[in-house]
Parts: sequence; structure tokens; C-alpha cells
Amino acid sequence: MATKVRYQTRAAKTPPFDAIIGEYLRTGGRPYIHICWMVHNHCNHRCSYCDKANWGGDHPWPTLESAKRFFEQVFRHYHDRKVVVSLTGGEPTLWPDFRSLVDWLHERKISLGMTSNGTMGAKYFAEISPKLDWLSLSFHPQFTNPEPFLETVLASSASPHLTVRLMMPPERRLWNRSMDFSKKIRQSSRLNRSISVEHVPIVDGFGSTNTKPVQYEADQSQEFARTSITVGPETPKPIQSPISNIFAGFAGPPKAYADYDLNQLVADGAANFFGWRCEIGREQLFIDSSGHILRAGCRVGGGVGHLNDADIQFPTAGIRCNKTFCHCVTDVIVTKASPRWDLIDAIHNKHDRIAVFRVLNSYGRFLTAHAQARLSRALDETHRLIKTTLPPRLYYTIRDGFRILRRPLKHLRSRASS
Ligand code: SF4
Ligand code: SF4
Repeated sequence: MATKVRYQTRAAKTPPFDAIIGEYLRTGGRPYIHICWMVHNHCNHRCSYCDKANWGGDHPWPTLESAKRFFEQVFRHYHDRKVVVSLTGGEPTLWPDFRSLVDWLHERKISLGMTSNGTMGAKYFAEISPKLDWLSLSFHPQFTNPEPFLETVLASSASPHLTVRLMMPPERRLWNRSMDFSKKIRQSSRLNRSISVEHVPIVDGFGSTNTKPVQYEADQSQEFARTSITVGPETPKPIQSPISNIFAGFAGPPKAYADYDLNQLVADGAANFFGWRCEIGREQLFIDSSGHILRAGCRVGGGVGHLNDADIQFPTAGIRCNKTFCHCVTDVIVTKASPRWDLIDAIHNKHDRIAVFRVLNSYGRFLTAHAQARLSRALDETHRLIKTTLPPRLYYTIRDGFRILRRPLKHLRSRASS
């Protein structure tokens, strides 16, 4: 088993823009709600950059009935939005009912995609890929066997957007394995269609609330300058995946927007949206491997409900970000704007008192978020100290006592955030 590695980290930087515009706002298309479901936490791999929370297997399988009931509620509440579903894990295909859920969603014409480590092999993915609008197959250099993985990629060509995500840990031996596969797939003469190949930076604290960018050597950072490559024949052209570039820019003056490469932004550690207004909860929901429903994988804003709940109170407004690193690409693409955006709005509408009030309100919340983040870091540090000082038995007794006390508070908080 690979042991968990703590990487050297660096502070996150401010992004080179002050708002991210959702695709539907840019094109005038239909708004969407993206449901990102971490179906369970069972995995046949034990990657050193992955938290045990993602592969420990300590959560029971979900039931197909509760999944269907949850999606029925989503269809009702977000009836004016297009429903987009991403299934991930652990390794999602290990759930015995996984294919039944895919069939059920496919019958309802839901836009559906998934991420997998490809373990189930070529035959499985040849059968399932026609039902997937996008498919991301992840190459994990400690565990993935390159030959069968390549066969799986070749067999998955029915999915309109196929992406190979190469995980890039900074350790040279692992980095080189991923780079070798990158060359192999680029040189393969057996590709009958174009696919995307992404070099994915790993993050420290993946699966926790305290994620940080990892430090790479200079040559490795340069390699990330071309994180996304299209390989294979130029026709037919791949259909743009819902998660690729972002459209971001400045409110001006002058107004300026451009496309930004998502993985590059994360690799540069420039995904710091601390204090921004973020539309998670309206554009995105995340279900963790124990069935808890959150606004997003970043866990900002706390819980919304549970997969087994018969009456979920879904959020109706966005939230103020209190994290300094937004590492997950599905979180980064959500519409968000810095307090400066509000300020510019107000300057252009200087007779509008409501706009001025919005700016004051916005900066007030921004400062509160700062204070909250400092407090939360101090609490994390105190928690760590207590854990290392107390005998384990005493520590776990106290911790379990706190968890029981926190339940009613959590319930109140999730009702307040909706
Ligand atoms: S394959 Fe994915 S879920 Fe499994 S251990 Fe590796 S990173 Fe974690
Ligand atoms: S960390 Fe969460 S709240 Fe902050 S910008 Fe990212 S998705 Fe939004």
C-alpha cells in the first residue's frame, strides 16, 4: 500500500481576473445545475496523493432507490435548469448498482459524465461509453498498468468527449511514468478519433477542507503550460466538454474577457477566490461518499441535506467564499465575482443607492469571511495539538461527544443556508 505523502506547498495567488462567467451567461443559453456525486469511497487503488476518505471503503453502498428519489427531487426543484450529472468516487464502477443508475439517467436524457480509473477494462467501457456525454479516464502512475489502460481508452471512443487525465505527482519516478504514458498515447496510431489529454497537477490535502497548491520544479511547472492537448485524428472534432476552459475577465473599464485553461490556473496556484460571491448551491451541488449533500466539493457553506432525505431544502442563493484555494475544476467553473466587481457595478450606477449598499454589504461579508477563515485555521491547529497530546481513547471519546452535540447545530445551519 502506498503511504500518504505530505508535499511541499505554496501560498495560493490571486487570479488574473475578477469574475468567472458561467457558460450559459456567456451564450444566453439555459442555466444548469451540475450534480457532482462521489458515489462511494471504495477504491482498488491507494494513491499516495489521495486521502483515505476517498478510498477507505468505510461508507456503505448507496441504494438505487434513494438515488432515484434524490434525482426526482432535483428535477422538481431545478425544473427551469438543465440537469448535468457527474459521477465519481472512489472508483464509481465498483458499486454493484452503478450501471443501473447510468441506464436510469440515460433513459431520462440527463446529461451524464463520469470519472474512472479505468479498472473495469475495455469491454465494460465499450458498453457504457455510448450512454455518457463525457468520460474522464484517470491515469494514476503508482497503480495504472499502461497497456490495458490504453486498450480501455481505445474502447471508450463512443463517448463524445473523452479525456485522459494524467495525474502528475512531483516525485520524478511517478512524474516520468505519467509523462511516458502521455508520449505513448500521443504517438498511438490506433486512435480513430480525437481525445483530450490533460496533465493534472495534484494538490496537498485532497479530499479535505484545507487544500493547498503543491510545489513543482521549474521544468515541471513549464510542462503545465501545455496542460491540455488534443491527440488523434482531427475529424470528427470532439464535442466541447462542460468542464474545459473558463470564460473570465474584468468588469472594466474597459471590460475584458478571455478563455482561461482550468488546469493551468490550478497548477499556477492562482485559484484563490477568497471573499468572492460564488454560485455554488444554485449552479452546483456535491454529494459526498457518505451521502451528505453540500453546495460543492470545497464544503464551503456546509450541508444541505442527505441523499436519504425525503424532503431536501435546496439552496436558493449563492455564498461568500472563505477558502484560499479552489482546487477542483468543477468548483472553479461555477460563476463567481470578486467584491471589486460589486464596486465597479456601483461606480457605474452611482445614483443607485441600492448598488452602494450592495458594495458595503459585499465588503462587510468579505471581512467577515477573513475573520472566519482565521478562526477556522486557529481551530484546526488547536484540534491538531489536542489530537497529538491526548491519549487516543480519551481523544475519540471527547470527539464523539462533540459530534453528537453538533448534530442539532448542523441541522439548523443547513436550514438557514437554504
Ligand atoms: S484512483 Fe482515485 S480515488 Fe482511488 S486512490 Fe487513486 S486518486 Fe484516490
Ligand atoms: S472554494 Fe468553493 S466557495 Fe470558494 S470559489 Fe471555490 S467553489 Fe466557490
